[in-house]
Amino acid sequence: MIFPPLREELRGIEPYGAPQLDVPVQLNVNENPYPPSSACAADIAAAAGRAAAGLNRYPDREFVALREGLAGYLGKDAGREIAPAQVWAANGSNEVMLHLLQAFGGPGRTAVSFAPTYSMYPEYARDTHTAWLTGRREEDFGLDLDHAFELIARERPSVVILPSPNNPTGTALPTEAIVVIAEALGDEGLLIVDEAYAEFRRSGTPSALELLPSHRNLVVTRTMSKAFAAAGVRLGYLAADPAICDALRVVRLPYHLSAVTQAVALTALAHADELLANVDRLRDERDDLVAWLRGAGFAVADSDANFVLFGTFVDRHAIWQGLLDRGVLIRETGPDGWLRVSVGTPEEMAAFRQALTDVTASVPHEKGQR
Ligand code: PMP
Repeated sequence: MIFPPLREELRGIEPYGAPQLDVPVQLNVNENPYPPSSACAADIAAAAGRAAAGLNRYPDREFVALREGLAGYLGKDAGREIAPAQVWAANGSNEVMLHLLQAFGGPGRTAVSFAPTYSMYPEYARDTHTAWLTGRREEDFGLDLDHAFELIARERPSVVILPSPNNPTGTALPTEAIVVIAEALGDEGLLIVDEAYAEFRRSGTPSALELLPSHRNLVVTRTMSKAFAAAGVRLGYLAADPAICDALRVVRLPYHLSAVTQAVALTALAHADELLANVDRLRDERDDLVAWLRGAGFAVADSDANFVLFGTFVDRHAIWQGLLDRGVLIRETGPDGWLRVSVGTPEEMAAFRQALTDVTASVPHEKGQR
């Protein structure tokens, strides 16, 4: 017997996670590069202090105040009222997604996504004993709706996860794609639209929130980790039919959101305007980056997110390493030959552009216009 007596399918598996390296320019996990102002940080600290005075008690298991706050925030984005009973939250949208798979996946059930996509999805499936299946995306990383429809008709999945914008490609989905897939699933399956990066979408790009009233099997997940500049809080949430939220109460661990998390997240929500104030600046920086990379002859995927996928390189690891040697950390992820860079401050982007120019002058690479 090999020790420890681990589940067979987990043997030899490396834990998920990007390298956390202490380098000057960190552009590898799609964080918002702007920290909260000192006034906002002081308010959050005061809220955490008030929560601390009651830490002998368990927190509100139903996180009622936080659900109300999140519903108010989402309602503004959706342009129509979202009720607190339509909202669920957990420690990051990673945990929200795990709750969804715990409740709606499971043995004998199948979850589907379309690659290249976020590499945590198969892990939620594995951890909940849900069969995992990936369809493919088009050359431009969009969805082939005929292929998606066919796959769903054949496999009858209980869950389909579609990020919009997609990580690592930045590709947003048209409303039509969400409607076709939600309708193909019907009451047999949930369509989870992972909108972790939705606030960065280009103007004119829709949010799936608009479709909630017409599609009861639709779940839209969001996070405070990206545009909201609060990755350290660990707060993800969703909007869906209240019956779906109710089902998640069965699988969550009791008191999964600590009193400190709830207080901090609520205070961050009260500062939403300030925390989101840099989103427009980041979108402009993203568009400039795409234009610069294209101008330099690289292939670049269109992006509605706060990161850009670019390439293509014969040896992408050498490029990644060369950038790191110059103090710039990006992400070696996505299809072979491609790299992903998060959008940072103007200074960070200038450092990235300079480092990439230097590295590509010395490392052999292929370029292609997209
Ligand atoms: N969905 C996507 C597409 C992501 O890229 C990420 C983070 N990289 C997450 C969900 C999870 O984010 P969090 O748990 O911080 O909310």
